[in-house]
Amino acid sequence: MTSIQGRVAVVTGGASGIGRGIAEALIEEGATVVIADVQQDALDATAAEIGATGIRVDVTDPASIEALAAETIERFGSVGILVNNAGVGALARLKDVTLADWRFMVNVNLWGVINGVTTFLPLLEANEDGGHIVNTGSMASFAPMAGGGIYNVTKFGVAALTETLAIELAEDGSNVHTTLLAPGTVHTNIKNSLRKRPDDLAGGLQDVDISEGVGAGLRWIDPIDAGRITTRAIRNNDLYALTHPDWHHLVKNRTDALDAAFAQYPVEGA
Ligand code: NAD
Repeated sequence: MTSIQGRVAVVTGGASGIGRGIAEALIEEGATVVIADVQQDALDATAAEIGATGIRVDVTDPASIEALAAETIERFGSVGILVNNAGVGALARLKDVTLADWRFMVNVNLWGVINGVTTFLPLLEANEDGGHIVNTGSMASFAPMAGGGIYNVTKFGVAALTETLAIELAEDGSNVHTTLLAPGTVHTNIKNSLRKRPDDLAGGLQDVDISEGVGAGLRWIDPIDAGRITTRAIRNNDLYALTHPDWHHLVKNRTDALDAAFAQYPVEGA
């Protein structure tokens, strides 16, 4: 079990959407919450609305993450929970993307998590009562979707990072635990992901509101529901936090195809 009551938690991308929902759920359970986000206006508004402290961060910049950690420790004395949640979600088929698109999305979705883990893991390990790292992946961490090629790559990367970290923390007998949050469709501002894209990283990616297209018939949940699923996973030290267990078939299609591929190859020399 990881306790939440009385802990200091940092949530990146906490000004909006799922990050805000996680921050609210952590506050419900008695945590002191720092929300960290690149959008200063939304950060100020959300911090005031939910009773969190807002600290501006750009997760793509290691120095900015280090400054976030230093300011959190300076103001609150410790940090026990880190939620690497900031992310962007624009779409394009792989034939239509540029290297600038790859850089933009890998920088936020994968380097943002790498920067967070690298800076905060030693701080959590130094706590007598350990701590917890949540990384926000996606159902795209397990089952790639067409049109989301770069996104899929970043979210598979977040899954690989989190699963490897879990193995190593367990082998080391660490008091730090980790969770991969893999949401399905959640009502958020992800459809406006390009508004903060640096001009020199413009390319073929497009903001798409999938709730009005391919996602129209899917089950959509609210961020606070994703937040409460996340806090339960933190308390239980669960490796996976799933918002859409009803999407199991999507993952199974992939694992069934892998099973069939393994079954069809003879073992040479056996
Ligand atoms: P959102 O746009 O509502 O929130 C994302 C937040 O991240 C925004 O406040 C944004 O300003 C912030 N952010 C973006 N770049 C940043 C940077 N460089 N540094 C700091 N903050 C930055 O979107 P969301 O849907 O809540 O997304 C949160 C996470 O959930 C993302 O990792 C996303 O991939 C993941 N996710 C979302 C869904 C969904 O259906 N909405 C599904 C699966 C996974």
